[in-house]
Amino acid sequence: MAQKGTIICAPATSGGGAIALIRLSGPGTIETLAGIFKPVDDQIDIIKANGYSLIYGTISSQDEFIDEVLVSLFRAPHSYTGEEMAEISCHASPFIQRRIIEILIERGVQTASPGEFTMRAFMNGKMDLSQAEAVADIIASDSAAAHRLASTQLRGGFSKEIEKLRMELLSFASLIELELDFSEEDVKFADRFALTETVIKIKSLVDRLAASFRLGNAIKKGMPVVIAGRPNVGKSSLLNLLLQEERAIVSDIPGTTRDTVEEVLHVGGLLFRFIDTAGLRDAGDRIEEMGIERTHGRLKEAEVVLAVAEATDRAEDIAGFARSLAELSGDSGAKIILVINKSDLAGSGEITRLKKELPRLCDLPAVFISAVTTSGMDELRMVLTAAVETGRLDAPQYIVTNARHYEALKNVSESLQRVLDGFRDGIPTVLIATDVRQAVYYLGVITGKITPEDILGEIFSHFCIGK
Ligand code: GDP
Repeated sequence: MAQKGTIICAPATSGGGAIALIRLSGPGTIETLAGIFKPVDDQIDIIKANGYSLIYGTISSQDEFIDEVLVSLFRAPHSYTGEEMAEISCHASPFIQRRIIEILIERGVQTASPGEFTMRAFMNGKMDLSQAEAVADIIASDSAAAHRLASTQLRGGFSKEIEKLRMELLSFASLIELELDFSEEDVKFADRFALTETVIKIKSLVDRLAASFRLGNAIKKGMPVVIAGRPNVGKSSLLNLLLQEERAIVSDIPGTTRDTVEEVLHVGGLLFRFIDTAGLRDAGDRIEEMGIERTHGRLKEAEVVLAVAEATDRAEDIAGFARSLAELSGDSGAKIILVINKSDLAGSGEITRLKKELPRLCDLPAVFISAVTTSGMDELRMVLTAAVETGRLDAPQYIVTNARHYEALKNVSESLQRVLDGFRDGIPTVLIATDVRQAVYYLGVITGKITPEDILGEIFSHFCIGK
């Protein structure tokens, strides 16, 4: 990162396209720009121009003409970073961009590190840390749901919520600490009962936020879906059909185990990640026959399980299969959807009977499809998106999508639990006060009220250059 007070520059657009944007920020930006930029209208002096002016002109270095450009000017503090800024819209030739940056560097401008513009915005109080992180998320968002979450966070609602909790805990901390000042006299200013109530209230909100991370993460990276079923029921056919029909994203998700295949695709504005859809082993015991064994471990991380059976199966067998899946997924909260495939092979009488019998045996949604004729696929898509949408109803207003926030919330929760235990066990106030302070600290870590330099560097290094 460049020193505060220096001018930084970077291309803000990625390669390709017709136009590229080069950004500059820092005190003296406009004066430096004036050394290489000449407005076509020679009445205009950019040094005197107002903020938000858009000026047409040319960029050259001594006698070398480089490009015809448009320049936007921003006066501090009315800019993204809060500093004096300029943006040069030039032609997207890599040569032109490189030359412009080179001649800026000759004039003492430094190249910006990834995220440095946003870091300056944070440093200048334009946004808090969680909003700054949302900027990176919004750039990366590639589904309607991920975009919705990132933009809520960017608008600052989540930060305000966290800040409110932090203020509540702070006043709580000062009450307790007041007692410490008078510890000789053994007075209690704070009503233990009311304090406990407050801590329970805050902790429950913190816990709900932390719990929403599972969903938030799923939205950001794709809702994990497991397709389970015994060999040959049509799992691969179903997945291939979905991949053909929906905009498929080539799967390349780091951190997945070697032997699992993951396919990522959009269905109804949501990103789904189909896990471990690779062929299931034949043979084996009964569970293995049902094709459950290999998906077993994966069931715990699934938001949705597509339990695939055949339309020629008996209703009892299908229900038994669904029960085993439910048991194996335990309390993970995964939604199970019965997908009855190969409807084309069953007679209409068989299907009618299954439709009547299945609801009596298990209360899971069942969709009849044929991966060959593609019948029932629209309904399956609807049921799939509805399963996740309803899962969201019990989520809090704000959904945590960031692993750093999640860690911090867990720490807050643990500290608050120690406060509650302390009250119950009559632990000395001085120890309770330490735990309250810890909780306050971790809440501050989320919004950047307290953030060590090295953590800041780490957060912003994940940004793209020019942001
Ligand atoms: P998997 O082992 O569960 O992944 O099953 P596959 O997708 O490989 O399908 C097994 C066989 O069933 C293949 O020969 C498919 O062509 C066939 N199949 C899959 N879905 C259907 C269907 O809806 N109708 C019919 N008639 N055949 C299907």
